[in-house]
Amino acid sequence: MNIPAFTGGNAPPRIASPPAIALHQVSHFFGSTPVLNHVNLTVPKGTILALLGPSGCGKSTLLKMLAGLLHPASGQISFDGEIVASGTFSLPPERRNLGMAFQDYALWPHMSVRQNVAFPLQMRGVRGALLQEKVMAALDRVGLADFASRRPSELSGGQQQRVALARAIVAEPRILLFDEPLSNLDRDLRESLCEEMATLLRQLGTTAVYVTHDRHEARALAHKIAHMDQGAIARIDLNDASVVSPFVA
Ligand code: ADP
Ligand code: MG
Repeated sequence: MNIPAFTGGNAPPRIASPPAIALHQVSHFFGSTPVLNHVNLTVPKGTILALLGPSGCGKSTLLKMLAGLLHPASGQISFDGEIVASGTFSLPPERRNLGMAFQDYALWPHMSVRQNVAFPLQMRGVRGALLQEKVMAALDRVGLADFASRRPSELSGGQQQRVALARAIVAEPRILLFDEPLSNLDRDLRESLCEEMATLLRQLGTTAVYVTHDRHEARALAHKIAHMDQGAIARIDLNDASVVSPFVA
C-alpha cells in the first residue's frame, strides 16, 4: 500500500513569498582578480544575517553589491523577488529602499543631528510635522532625543554611531545593511552598543545584513551567520546563542 506523504495535518497551507534577498551566482572582479566567486545566498524576510569572515575575504564588496554601489560582473541579485542587479542592469542605490550604516559613521559634519537623520526622509518627500515626528522617534529609539540640535563633532564616537543608526532606520527601509559599524569603538562601548543594536533590530523586525570580522558580534546580533572565505560563502549556521551575552566567554 502506498502511504501518502505527510502534508502537515490541519496546518494552514504555507504561502511561498520570495526571500527578502537572493543572490544567484554573483561574481565580481577587481581587475582580473576574482573577489566574489559565484556567490549564492538567500535571506528570508525578517532575518538578521551576519556575514562573518577574515579581512579581505570580500564582505564589504558583497555588501556594496546589495547597496548598489558596486555592480556584479555576472549573476543576479533580487529583493522580494524583483531583480535589482544583474550583469547588465543595476537599480541605483536610492531606488532600493535601504538603510545603511558603516564603520566611519559618515555623518554630514555641517548638519545637526536632526538634519542628518531627516535627510533620508526628505529624499522621499516627507516634510513638516510628520518629518519632525519621525526624526524624533528614531532619535528616541537610539537614546539621543536630547541631542537633536548638536553637531556630530560635539558627540562621542558611540553617539555618532547611534545617529548613523537612527538615520539608517528612520525611513523604515525594507533592508538594513551594516558594515562593521562598531569596529571603531573601544571594547566596552562596542559590547553595550552591540547589545542595544541586537534589541533594536529584533524590535524592528527588518531584514538585515551585518558585516563583521568579530564572531562575538555575529553571535550577539544575528539569527543566522554566513561564514565567508575567499570570495565565497563557506557555510551558513543558525545562531542559537543570541539569547545570552556571548561576550561572557
Ligand atoms: P573585506 O570587507 O572582507 O575585508 P573587501 O570586500 O573590502 O574585503 O575586499 C576583498 C578583496 O578585494 C581584498 O583583497 C581587497 O584588497 C580587494 N579590493 C577591495 N576593493 C578594491 C578596489 N577598489 N580595487 C582593487 N581591489 C579591491
Ligand atoms: Mg570590509
